[in-house]
Amino acid sequence: MPHCPVSSAPRQCSRNLVSEAFDLVILGGGCAGLSLAVALAAHGERCPRTLVIEPRTQYTNDRTWCYWNDHRAPAQCPVQQSWQSMRLVHGGLSVSLDCGTTPYQMLAARDFYAMAQRTIAQQPKIELRQGSSVVGEPSLSGDIWRLRSSAGEVTARSVVDTRPPQGPRRDGAVLWQSFYGQEIECTAAVFDPSSLDLMNFLAPDPRHVAFVYLLPISSTRALVEVTVFGAAPLEPQALAPWLEAAIAERVGAAPFTTLRREQGILPMGLIDTPRQTHPGCVKVGVMAGGARASTGYAYQRIQQWASECARALVSQGRPVAHRPDPWPLRWMDRIFLEVLRTEPSRGASLFFSLFSRTEPAHVIRFLSGRAGVVDSLHVIAAMPVAPFVRALIALARRRGRVSGIEGMA
Ligand SMILES: Cc1cc2nc3c(=O)[nH]c(=O)nc-3n(C[C@H](O)[C@H](O)[C@H](O)COP(=O)(O)OP(=O)(O)OC[C@H]3O[C@@H](n4cnc5c(N)ncnc54)[C@H](O)[C@@H]3O)c2cc1C
Repeated sequence: MPHCPVSSAPRQCSRNLVSEAFDLVILGGGCAGLSLAVALAAHGERCPRTLVIEPRTQYTNDRTWCYWNDHRAPAQCPVQQSWQSMRLVHGGLSVSLDCGTTPYQMLAARDFYAMAQRTIAQQPKIELRQGSSVVGEPSLSGDIWRLRSSAGEVTARSVVDTRPPQGPRRDGAVLWQSFYGQEIECTAAVFDPSSLDLMNFLAPDPRHVAFVYLLPISSTRALVEVTVFGAAPLEPQALAPWLEAAIAERVGAAPFTTLRREQGILPMGLIDTPRQTHPGCVKVGVMAGGARASTGYAYQRIQQWASECARALVSQGRPVAHRPDPWPLRWMDRIFLEVLRTEPSRGASLFFSLFSRTEPAHVIRFLSGRAGVVDSLHVIAAMPVAPFVRALIALARRRGRVSGIEGMA
């Protein structure tokens, strides 16, 4: 195989291929790719010479990232909104929860992308190449990775691949979280911006758990989203009627304008998390272990991984993938997801019990993937015993026949 030395200039390789050489190539400049670039930029002179390859020619405000702030997010990105209180609603009952110690925060993607582009522009060792796609898989020759992109061939000592695989497969995750939302501006003051609706459950359904997620930005503006946890991934067209009904219920007759829409299908418990097959190349991001199994939340985990990966690249010259959760948390997630998968009509009452019977701090740490032993015990104590025992028995029977999530089998 042709073999190019790593340097900053384009090199003439054998077989007359001209390739550009880098220390690191990041495939995909989305949340994970840009977060890693931002974390690397903070290492100044020690930053490896890095290329980020991203197909989009322009970034748009295509999503919002929300999380309970535990200070893992980069401080340089402005928060659009922050809430100290949240609500769950189920079957005519509602519970309000104080989350003031870890406020629920919302970042606009447009602000994150702008912050990342500014940071990269100030670090001469990192290039963000937009309008270019990577084709196929990287191949190794000697200790150099070779990649084909629409803008030519590139070589690097290390590769971080954040590209999502083609579309969600029904059997690719224990459950899929499908959602579709609209940010609307209403002519009347119909929202209460002091509290968000984390989960306002729709009627129980034997196929899935469905709820409305409402983020009020002001008394007239909100992001209203319909979310479904189910075995089958759902496209926005399937969710649109529920979203229309949810908006109509909240705004009544008041006219409103749609400012933007967002949609997604996130894995909850990936069946096959990609394994690292070579120390110089890792697959990361939401479809490679970046998302929290029981919630689909990924932003904070990606930030934590980005800092760790940047440190590993700077100190050892090798990237690292997402660290799996500790096994007790993986088991809790697996059992919880099994209950939601096999008895989805119980989903609303399970979440409602979880939040109404436990101190919010325990649940928030569990949902954010930072639960300690005490948090886990509180979460377990809040759950009804029978469905969890049934799920545990079903999983134990299947063990050996079906591989579990994230290396649990
Ligand atoms: C609408 C939406 C809302 C979300 N909200 C939240 C939230 O509130 N909280 C939370 O924690 N998580 C949330 N998530 C989940 C998760 O945080 C995001 O999906 C996050 O963007 C995942 O980062 P990523 O880098 O894995 O994927 P992406 O950000 O999608 O990045 C993947 C990148 O790969 C690029 N790419 C694709 N093909 C190629 C190719 N051939 N060559 C090179 N590059 C390629 C894409 O253009 C893209 O930029 C949300 C997801 C969505 C879709």
